[in-house]
Amino acid sequence: MIDVILKKGKEKAVLQRHPWVFSGALEKIKGKAENGEIVRLLNNKNEFLAYGFYNHQSRVALRLLEWDENILINDNWFRNKVSSAISSRVHILTNGETDTCRLIFSESDYLPGLIVDKYADHLAVQVLTSGMQNAMPIIIDELKNLLNPLSIFDKSDAASRAHEGLETTNILLDGTPPPQLVIVKENGITYGINITEGQKSGFYCDQRDNRKILASYAKGKKVLDCFCYTGGFTLNCLQTGASWVTSVDSSALAIETLYENIRLNKLPANLHNAVKADVNNQLRQLKENGEKFDIIVLDPPKYAPSRSALTRASRAYKDLNRLGMQLLTPGGLLATFSCSGAMDMETFKQVIAWAALDAGKQVQFIYQFHQPEDHPVRASFHEGEYLKGLLCKVW
Ligand code: SAH
Repeated sequence: MIDVILKKGKEKAVLQRHPWVFSGALEKIKGKAENGEIVRLLNNKNEFLAYGFYNHQSRVALRLLEWDENILINDNWFRNKVSSAISSRVHILTNGETDTCRLIFSESDYLPGLIVDKYADHLAVQVLTSGMQNAMPIIIDELKNLLNPLSIFDKSDAASRAHEGLETTNILLDGTPPPQLVIVKENGITYGINITEGQKSGFYCDQRDNRKILASYAKGKKVLDCFCYTGGFTLNCLQTGASWVTSVDSSALAIETLYENIRLNKLPANLHNAVKADVNNQLRQLKENGEKFDIIVLDPPKYAPSRSALTRASRAYKDLNRLGMQLLTPGGLLATFSCSGAMDMETFKQVIAWAALDAGKQVQFIYQFHQPEDHPVRASFHEGEYLKGLLCKVW
């Protein structure tokens, strides 16, 4: 195994079990390590620190796997990590209400670069590191042993693969091709998931708990669901008796699937309409028309892909939320989200406070939304925390 030496003074994060080592922190590599190879990280006194995946193209040159020198990273190591991640999700999937969730969440499940989502009997995986790419035969084998899925589809079309020198893929790894719409259940609501053409791996299962919580406020209310995708919030609100829901998204495929989802659940189509539009434009249009809503959901895509984008992203979040607040009836609810890991909850609250000032409104935070338990946050890896939201009462 090749030894990689860490620069003096760079041990702290490694000792605290942060799983990333940046290329600038490396002193030297003793030999020629291939991308994805498992190497040994030593300090400058040649003392063992950790094992990790090496990649010479990535800014994150090492993704650490194990801090105990005596534990070998072999096939069983990967099998154990896969099975313990899956067993910690069993209760989510066995209550009869839900058969879709994230089974493996990358670094947060000690498997850097591996994401596995379960859609009923089908699996969608994303492989984002060269080390994990090498481990895939064993990962696939273990997923088959444990779950016997009908298909395993590789949906690794994430731009982050390029940082590791990996090509984008969109291929069937095992089984028979999934149907165009895989039918799943989440909190008792049925969804058609387009694994091969949908966004991410097909569905945003990270909003499972938040959809249910928001819907508990929706009975008899007029709701505007912005960035609705295939209708997670829309369907939950209609199910709990919203008097009307308007859904907005820029993706035609998402809206088409949303209509199909309304049919699948036999929800009242006469209490709903969906608009294919840019949300900011649509909010301005609704304001011009003098429309008001009792509940507005704002669940935009990631505006801040990195910390350096935070200032510009904050402005975009502020403008969006100001527009949203202006469309609410007095005492109405704004459920506003940010899935930008670079923006923490405190900053997000500040942005919402600025939006309220600009809109001439008063805001009470009545609930804080988070990512659900199948998207755990590892204590030594705060980067895994990305989804946050605020339920705001707006006057
Ligand atoms: N709330 C959804 C998930 C939202 S993901 C759910 O519960 O499933 C973000 C969505 O924003 C995507 O569907 C994407 O198509 C849409 N989107 C991105 N930019 C947009 C824009 N400018 N206007 C409208 N929709 C946009």
